[in-house]
Order: sequence, then structure tokens, then C-alpha cells
Amino acid sequence: LLQLYSPLSFFGFIYREIKQAMVDMERMFELLGQDREVADRPDAHALRVTGAQVEFRDVHFGYDTRRPILKGVSFTIPAGKTVAVVGTSGAGKSTIARLLFRFYDADGGAILIDGQDIRDVTQASLRAAIGVVPQDTVLFNDTIRYNIGYGRPDASDAEIEAAARLAHIHDLIMAMPDGYQTMVGERGLKLSGGEKQRVAIARTLLKNPAIFLFDEATSALDTHTEREIQANLREVSLGRSTLIIAHRLSTVADADEIIVLAEGRIIERGRHQELLARDGVYAGMWARQQESAQTAPAD
Ligand code: ADP
Ligand code: MG
Repeated sequence: LLQLYSPLSFFGFIYREIKQAMVDMERMFELLGQDREVADRPDAHALRVTGAQVEFRDVHFGYDTRRPILKGVSFTIPAGKTVAVVGTSGAGKSTIARLLFRFYDADGGAILIDGQDIRDVTQASLRAAIGVVPQDTVLFNDTIRYNIGYGRPDASDAEIEAAARLAHIHDLIMAMPDGYQTMVGERGLKLSGGEKQRVAIARTLLKNPAIFLFDEATSALDTHTEREIQANLREVSLGRSTLIIAHRLSTVADADEIIVLAEGRIIERGRHQELLARDGVYAGMWARQQESAQTAPAD
């Protein structure tokens, strides 16, 4: 029995060694970011945008396959509507944005735009269809014109101005002696948080995307900037499919659907009033934010 056992345990040892080596190789590729690299399929076609309906269909995802982050997330943004995702820090909200932009592919389920799986389309066409407006906008030490036109170097002065008007920064720009040639950034004109975001909105409008994606920063904003940004959002998202990843609930109150995410699962969904009436997690979050807004110092 001992004689029989030894070779088996020896093979068992080899097997474990090989398996471990393979796990290590997987880890190595992971660290190099290789296994996660998203590539166009050889037969990838350009995304055909009609109404820009966005659908997450039972999406599962983990940065590390052993630690799932999204555990079956399903929602639809009907053409031209706004869906907001809220939830505590680490719930997986920004991950949803990263998957829509296809920084990563879902492990299970699918993400569709106008019925096309985003894995079947070229990344260039997908990313051209999505305008991302970050809240922490980085401005270059260059002219305001350059900062708006960044990403569309071919844009004409008329196009730049039209975008600036829509983003409500044209008047501000014209009030400066150098107009569109005014230098901004560290060494130039300092813009407020809300003004910076309007530059980002103008930049995005110039791209004219069918889908808007806002991923709110977690950093605290003063009440005035927050109101400004809320108004900007409301206006720009009108008639465009919009996904708002929100940390502040005040920015999502008029979304067509609010999704409450907790540990990678949707635990509540509905409109603001419906969720308040439900008196669940969202209502609790809302009450807490109202309280802290009242105790926060005025700007
Ligand atoms: P939220 O935006 O809701 O705060 P995220 O979607 O950014 O949350 O993150 C969800 C979880 O995924 C967190 O636990 C976070 O630590 C983890 N995570 C985020 N990005 C990465 C990454 N690049 N690699 C590994 N884990 C990550
Ligand atoms: Mg986030």
C-alpha cells in the first residue's frame, strides 16, 4: 500500500506544483495587465448608434476573478433618458462606468448599445459615442480655446463658440480682455470648480456624443458649486442617454431611474419620490445627506 501510495502522492505533488505555476502565471499576466487587455475582435464593426439605448444585462465582473465586484447588474437607459447609480463607496459604481467605456470586459452577461454587444464593436467607435465629463477637470496651461477644443483639434472657432454657449461659459470668456485667447490653469486665469466643469462640458459637447457619462468626484464641493453643477448636468443631459455615477444624491433627484448599488448588487431602484416613499436605504441616505448639508458651513 505504501509503495502504491508514494508514486501517487509524488504525482499529486507534481500536479500541485504545475497548478501553482499556472496560477502564478495568471497572476503575472494580471499584474502586467495582459489578460485584461481589451482588444477589438477581428470582425469588429463600427457601433451603429440609433437612439443610444444602453443596456446592462446581468453583468458580472471582478478585477480579480476571485473577488467579484459586480454580481449580476441589470438596467436599461432608454434612448435620451437618465439613469443614476448611487451607493456607498466601494459599491462598484465607477466600475459600471469603466465597463461601459470598455476599459474591461464583463466576466458574465453583456452590455449593449442599441442592441449591439460592445464587445462586437470597435473600441474607437464605442468611445466616440460616449462623452465623459469628469468633475475634477484638468485644465492645461494654455488658452481657453485650446482647453475647449482639446480632443477636436480640427474644430472651427464657430464650433468652439457654439459649444461654449451651450455650456454657459461664452459670456464669461468674452468678459475677459483676451477672450478665447485668455490663458487658464496654474499660471493663468483661475476658474471655479463649476466653471472648470463647464469647460469640460463644452469639450464634451464639441465631441457631440450620443451618450453622456458623468462620474462624480468624491471630493467635497461647496454648496454654490454643487448647485451650479446640478444645473449644468440637468441641461446637458436633456435628450441624451445619460449615466450619472453619483456620490451626492442632490445631483440625481430628477433622474428617470435611480439605482442603489450595494456590494455589486442593485438593492433598490426607482424615481426619487418613489424611493423616498419606500423609506429604505435610499431614503436613509437622503436623510443623512440633508442633515450634513444643514450642518456644513455655508460657502
Ligand atoms: P465606487 O465607485 O462605488 O466607490 P468602485 O467601482 O470604484 O467603487 O470600486 C469597487 C471595488 O472595486 C472596490 O472595492 C475597489 O477597491 C475595487 N477596485 C476598483 N478599481 C480596482 C482596480 N483597478 N483593481 C482592483 N480592484 C479595484
Ligand atoms: Mg467611484
